[in-house]
Amino acid sequence: MTALLEIRGLTKHFGLKKSLFQRERQFVHALDDIDLDLVQGETLSVVGESGSGKSTLGRTIVRLEQPTAGTIRFEGQDIGGAQGAQDRHLRQSIQMIFQDPYASLNPRLSVGHALAEPMRVHGKVADAAAARVAVGQLLERVGLQPDMANSYPFAFSGGQRQRIGIARALSLGPKVLICDEAVSALDVSVQSQILNLFSHLKRELGLTYLFITHDLGVVRHISDRVMVMYLGQVVELAPRDAFFKRRLHPYTRALISAAPQPTTGRREPRILLQGEIPNALNPPSGCRFHTRCPQATAVCKAVEPVLQEVEPGHQVRCHLFTAPA
Ligand code: SF4
Repeated sequence: MTALLEIRGLTKHFGLKKSLFQRERQFVHALDDIDLDLVQGETLSVVGESGSGKSTLGRTIVRLEQPTAGTIRFEGQDIGGAQGAQDRHLRQSIQMIFQDPYASLNPRLSVGHALAEPMRVHGKVADAAAARVAVGQLLERVGLQPDMANSYPFAFSGGQRQRIGIARALSLGPKVLICDEAVSALDVSVQSQILNLFSHLKRELGLTYLFITHDLGVVRHISDRVMVMYLGQVVELAPRDAFFKRRLHPYTRALISAAPQPTTGRREPRILLQGEIPNALNPPSGCRFHTRCPQATAVCKAVEPVLQEVEPGHQVRCHLFTAPA
């Protein structure tokens, strides 16, 4: 199957000065050598603790961050090298939805104005009348009333604000939506309504999602495939069912053991990880997870495992499952 989005060797290091007077810089390894294909119409969930690099991945794909190295191709075109009309087309095609839509809504502008503005800037509507019609259609598409266009952001609940955030992301006709903790701040009942809206929009508009979340309940509900990140690297990538049943990587096992079971709400015996995720300024040698892994051996500290396919569509970065490269 042809990939809609092809990511190769994507790396993002943030430079930090050691001190005011020192020239030498240190680098936060936010992303290291990520390879990923996103297939048209799929939902790929990206999970991991805070500091794993999952949000930086989303921000780099929509070019809120410039990559340090690597390429991102959308429909075969290199995003980094795009200019002019091609650049505008690519920017419209990949949109991002954030956890807190309120933060990106101007409280002094009506919702109608906030939704019409990007369409006007990108020449999607000919005049004010066309913008009003388009705004009404967008609001209906996300389950709101067209006359809500006249209201201001403060008048909406958290779930309604997220619907407005989704409407704004849809206003430019994207093909890929990157959702960064898009339902994390919502109550459980509202969360499931918004997840259902995402599923409905996917069927209706043929959207493709990169769904960044720390919530494995959300992952079960929405994903076709799941990717686990740890300290800037992919450690496991698998179809959803294989991910939950086989859960090969020790870090994946620990994450799943900490989440409630979908049917009973109970947790499995919890695999406790020691300590916090290490500092990304100076990632551990060998396997980056070895400082916390219950199954670490001497080789794990010395030799970095590579991401390898261990069964069709299932990749793991761990010496327990993969042969040395
Ligand atoms: Fe644990 Fe070693 Fe596998 Fe890393 S390579 S996850 S330390 S067993």
